[in-house]
Amino acid sequence: MGDCIFCKITKKEIPSNIVYESDTIVAFPDIDPSADIHILIVPKVHIGGISDISKEHGDLLGEVYEVVNKLVVENNLTDKLYRVAVNGGKAQHVPHLHFHLLGGNWKKMI
Ligand code: AMP
Ligand code: ZN
Repeated sequence: MGDCIFCKITKKEIPSNIVYESDTIVAFPDIDPSADIHILIVPKVHIGGISDISKEHGDLLGEVYEVVNKLVVENNLTDKLYRVAVNGGKAQHVPHLHFHLLGGNWKKMI
C-alpha cells in the first residue's frame, strides 16, 4: 500500500495534526472540513473500504466508536449535532477505510 495517503499519515510519512493515537487507530482533522468539527478516525491497518469489512474486524470497529465517543466529549459535542459517516463506492475518495466525525454546523454534504 506504498502510495496510500492514509497509510502514509498513520506511519507519519506525511505530517498531520494527530489528535488521537493508539496501536491500532489514529485520528486527525480533515484537511477540507465539511462541518465545524470534522475529524477522521482511521484504522492503522489498510482496509480498503466498507466492502472489505468482516467479522474479524469487530474489535477494531468497537475501538473506532470508543475513539468517536472520546472525541465527541473532548469537542463538547455531546448535546449538540454530530454524526459519523463512512463513504463507499464512488462517494469514497481515499481508498483506506475511515470514519468522518462531523459536529456542529454542516457546511456541505460529504
Ligand atoms: P472520502 O471521500 O470519504 O474518501 O473522504 C476523504 C477525506 O479525506 C476528504 O474529506 C478529504 O478532505 C480528506 N483528506 C484528504 N487528504 C487529507 C489529508 N492529507 N489530511 C487530512 N484529510 C485529508
Ligand atoms: Zn492505506
